[in-house]
Amino acid sequence: MIPFNVPPCVGTELQYIKEAIESHKICGDGAFTKKCNAWLEERFGAQKVLLTTSGTTALDMAALLCELKEGDEVILPSYTFSSTATSAVLGGARLVFVDIRPDTMNIDEKKIEEAITERTRAIIAVHYAGVACEMDTIMEIARKYNLVVIEDAAQGVMSTYKGRALGTIGDFGCYSFHETKNYSMGEGGALVINNPEYNERAEILREKGTNRSKFFRGQVDKYTWVDFGDSYLPSELNAAYLWAQLCAADEINENRMASWNQYYQELKGLEESGRIELPVIPEGCVHNAHMFYIKCRDLEERTSFISYMKEEGILTVFHYIPLHSAPAGLKYGRFSGKDLYTTKESERLVRLPMYYGLEQEKIAFICEKIRNFYR
Ligand SMILES: *Cc1c(COP(=O)(O)O)cnc(C)c1O
Repeated sequence: MIPFNVPPCVGTELQYIKEAIESHKICGDGAFTKKCNAWLEERFGAQKVLLTTSGTTALDMAALLCELKEGDEVILPSYTFSSTATSAVLGGARLVFVDIRPDTMNIDEKKIEEAITERTRAIIAVHYAGVACEMDTIMEIARKYNLVVIEDAAQGVMSTYKGRALGTIGDFGCYSFHETKNYSMGEGGALVINNPEYNERAEILREKGTNRSKFFRGQVDKYTWVDFGDSYLPSELNAAYLWAQLCAADEINENRMASWNQYYQELKGLEESGRIELPVIPEGCVHNAHMFYIKCRDLEERTSFISYMKEEGILTVFHYIPLHSAPAGLKYGRFSGKDLYTTKESERLVRLPMYYGLEQEKIAFICEKIRNFYR
């Protein structure tokens, strides 16, 4: 069986985890966490990055830092992972789902303005498959209506939009280092804070409501409980795993890009003959090969495609039942305007195996089977 995903491992992880154990510091905010934060800040030009226990908790932190109130509304796409929505629900907000663009599967920036009411407080832009949303337009709308922008860049680590790293464009950026993402620490994530006004509150929120981070920097002589908080610090053991991955970030990225480009070349013919559709990367966007998907004609064709591939020993998957039609989506939100593409496109999309170290011969084999299916 060719798996759909294999968690990334570059070979130096155990050595760093051993170092963490031998340093007798395995809780959060030790040397490896600090090195990861600093690496992410420097590489992406961010003023502050804090590792978290997951992409989900990074989103939770962003939503809590927005100080959403009962009755506030948050705009987001319906075609996304539940975490994008639960963060806004945690903040007490109502969800307003906006349709996606069929080319990138990202929120349709042209439909955001008509979803805004006097209760709208924030926009969550999800960079699907590591391909950027149209951020210039989104930021312009946010400034016009005084809205906070949270980038769900869980899939977008190492991608850029007009030269800027995803996650560093809105007020907050959220990364995921789950085992299914390009860079991993098992479970983990990071919050990027682009507006320094939130720095102090974020540290307190992440440190169980205390000013312990300030204490460790020698800025206060004792630490105490100062505000609402929670625990969002990952263990040093996880950070050590991530450190190994970040040290090899370019290698991982190049390896994934080579796989992505090979898929594209091998399947181009099927697109030209109108049998399938391939991903679109708009101008100005540099992606990170998080995902390679194709679009079948419809749900029925996709179902038989997935079972054909499975019989051939290849695992392909689809995801995201649109949130607005899911039980919790109905409870917490509403769809703004017409669902022209969210449901229709989500039913056609299927993801092909994609992971660091996926062999060229396997991609060739997978593509041969896809061509057979369409013959
Ligand atoms: C993976 C993912 C998340 C959640 O990240 P976790 O680290 O698994 O909590 C959120 N949003 C999107 C779009 C994701 O792909």
